[in-house]
Amino acid sequence: MPAKPKLGQNFLDDAQAVQRIAASLGDLSGRTVIEIGPGAGAITGALAARAAHVLAIELDHDLAAHLRTQFPPDRVTVLSQDVLNFDFATASTAAGERLCVIGNLPYGITSQILLKLAASHAALDRAILMVQREVADRITASPGSRDYGLLSVTVQMVGPAETLFTLPPSSFSPPPDVHSAVFRWRFAPRFAELGLDQSTFLPFVRKAFAQKRKTLANNLRAAGFSPAVSAAALAQAGIDPHARAEALPIEALAALWHAVQIPSPVGLPE
Ligand code: SAM
Repeated sequence: MPAKPKLGQNFLDDAQAVQRIAASLGDLSGRTVIEIGPGAGAITGALAARAAHVLAIELDHDLAAHLRTQFPPDRVTVLSQDVLNFDFATASTAAGERLCVIGNLPYGITSQILLKLAASHAALDRAILMVQREVADRITASPGSRDYGLLSVTVQMVGPAETLFTLPPSSFSPPPDVHSAVFRWRFAPRFAELGLDQSTFLPFVRKAFAQKRKTLANNLRAAGFSPAVSAAALAQAGIDPHARAEALPIEALAALWHAVQIPSPVGLPE
C-alpha cells in the first residue's frame, strides 16, 4: 500500500528497533496495551507476543482492514478511528487497570496526541512514544536549558519523561526528513502533591511562557495581571523579578500559581 504522507505514514523498517521499542514498555504479561497508529503492524506483532491484549487504533481504514487479517482478534483488536477521539478512561475501566501505551506517532499531530494523553493521565500507567528528535528534546528538557518550555512542563507535570534512543531517517520507509527519538513517560501526576488545580494551572503556565524573550513579569502583565500583583506574587514565590519562565522548575511555577490565587485589592484579570 502506498504511504499517505498526510497521515504521517513513515513505517518502521528496522527489526532491531521494533524489538527495542516493544521491550522498552517492560513486562507486559497480563497487560492491555494501546497502540497508537499501528500502520502495517511493525510494532503490533512484537506487542502481541508480549501482552495479553493489544488495542490498535488506526485512522487509515485500508491499513486497519489489512491489520485485521494479520492478527487473531482475541490478541489484537483493531479500531479504525482517530486516536484524538479515543476514550482512554473507558478503555482503562474495561481493562480493569491503568493502560500501557505505545506508538510511532504521526508527527503532524504529536502535540495534540501528547495533550490528549496528558489529559487522560488517570487512565494511564506508562508510555513509549516515538517523536521527532527535537520534540523529544523539548519534552525531556530541564529548567534553564534552551529546549525547556510549555511542552516540557505540560508533559512533566503528569510524570517523568526520558529519551531512550534515537533513530535515523533510514530506519523508516519512506524515510522522514527528520531524526526520531523514542522516549518513556511514566504517569505519576504532580497536581495533588503541589496543591494545584489542574484546570487552571496549565492555562496559567501557558501565559507565563507566552513570549519566550519576555521576562515572566512582562508575560504576566500581558496576561492582564497588574504590575503590583505580579511583583507581589513573584516576591511571595521567591522568584527573581527579572526571571524568565524558562528558568523556573515546576515547583517554582507552582509557587507562583499559588501566589496569584490570593485575591488582591489591585485586582486579578477576569
Ligand atoms: N506503527 C507503524 C510503524 O511504526 O511502522 C506506523 C507508524 S506511522 C509513523 C503513523 C501511523 O499513524 C500511520 O499508520 C497513520 O495512518 C496513523 N495515524 C495518523 N493519524 C492518526 C490518528 N489521528 N489516529 C490514529 N492513527 C493515526
